[in-house]
Amino acid sequence: MAAVKACNVLITGANRGLGLEMVKQLSEKSCPKQHIFATCRDPDGPKSEALRELAKKHPSVITIIRLDADDPSSVKESANKVGSLLGNNGLNLLVNNAGIVANGTIQTSRVEDMKNTFNTNVIGPLLIIREYLPFLKMAAKASGTPGMSCNKAAVINISTVAGSMTRMPSIYNHFPTLPYGVSKAGFNMLTVLAAEEFKADEILCMALHPGWVKTELGGDEATLEPKESVAGMLRVIGSLTEQHHGGFLDYAGETVTC
Ligand code: NDP
Repeated sequence: MAAVKACNVLITGANRGLGLEMVKQLSEKSCPKQHIFATCRDPDGPKSEALRELAKKHPSVITIIRLDADDPSSVKESANKVGSLLGNNGLNLLVNNAGIVANGTIQTSRVEDMKNTFNTNVIGPLLIIREYLPFLKMAAKASGTPGMSCNKAAVINISTVAGSMTRMPSIYNHFPTLPYGVSKAGFNMLTVLAAEEFKADEILCMALHPGWVKTELGGDEATLEPKESVAGMLRVIGSLTEQHHGGFLDYAGETVTC
């Protein structure tokens, strides 16, 4: 499978879990001219220490940017900052990875959790896509090649089978995470509609399920290590074409039905 050779990449929630692992793997194998904007809520805080260390190792490849998906002004400020650093090449690859989980069922889900998951997992990515769209369009135009790929211009939304109408019912007993599942179903719809809107601009949009991964969100019982999940996701991302536009795949490249 092809590698991710996108020049300018932006990843949200890059200070820990899958986002941090993605920055790590990309920076270890970074191709010439590749630059990674690793965004997180609190670049100077204790939870971003591992990312700061990684950025120190690859100072010409990684720039840490503050971005809180819950805060529209922070999203706007991040886009202004990244825009000033991008030049005329634009942004090739936007990975909406930041996300939160909340447990609950019809009978127990708290209103607060419904609001918070929708805010972070749906409204945040919507604002992020909107603010970064001019730079994605710029990259699509600058590429001068027909078709779609992550090296040209792409939005990859890190979703989950918990947001799949067909898959969630069979795991719901084991994972009673209604607020999370409902928000990620909304995120999947956002992906499909973004794909529809950006078809003419040749900006590839799709959703990716990382598998069940040992992170703070996935928990210790999960079956995959972040290293394996991210290696798989990067293989998939690198191989995407216009055939995958609006689609939903897992880290192994298997189709997930919405
Ligand atoms: P983690 O809990 O390990 O990391 C979540 C990341 O999202 C952290 O960097 C966190 O930052 C960030 N984040 C949370 N809220 C915001 C916000 N408002 N603004 C910016 N960043 C925020 O989770 P994973 O790495 O496991 O999850 C990454 C993605 O993968 C999520 O979208 C999740 O839904 C998806 N996923 C994960 C699975 C798994 O098994 N792990 C399975 C299926 C999907 P901070 O440190 O500031 O909290």
